[in-house]
Amino acid sequence: MYVIITKNAAETMQVGRRLAALVRPGDVITLSGSLGAGKTTFAAGFGEGLGIDEPVTSPSFVLVRSYSSGFTPLVHVDAYRLTSLGEFADLDVLDEAAEGVLLIEWGDAVVGVLPEDHLRIHIDVDLDDDETRTITFHPNGGWNQRPLEEVIQ
Ligand code: ADP
Ligand code: MG
Repeated sequence: MYVIITKNAAETMQVGRRLAALVRPGDVITLSGSLGAGKTTFAAGFGEGLGIDEPVTSPSFVLVRSYSSGFTPLVHVDAYRLTSLGEFADLDVLDEAAEGVLLIEWGDAVVGVLPEDHLRIHIDVDLDDDETRTITFHPNGGWNQRPLEEVIQ
């Protein structure tokens, strides 16, 4: 488990950018935390780090947005409005992202059908300060061998 505290949205984006340096095709990453915690903000920084030439924006209405202009493809999912694992399976995003990175907001709901090798990221909002977030990384399987300490420094 790795933890970093950010003091504003730009710092959270910076953490996302640093994580992008560690990813490989086939990676699966989930983001959790309450509405407004900063999941999409993190994803936007991650997209910048991948070199995607357009802003990564919330997929909450379309469920899935895909980007191919970075050094690895990104499939960005918002699972908030999914009501069953079957609906998630129907999106077929694990296949779509096989050659790229799959990043799932509200991903805790579908973690049971994800590969053993995945990274879970949780963002907590500070009760005393509007702009402080605690970001916790939970590596699973092969992610335990990745240098996540480079992301939290
Ligand atoms: P989510 O996708 O989790 O619902 P968003 O990323 O869409 O959340 O929104 C997070 C909001 O909180 C943005 O308006 C962002 O500017 C703000 N914010 C304030 N402080 C931070 C921080 N430290 N990290 C991320 N977002 C922050
Ligand atoms: Mg969001």
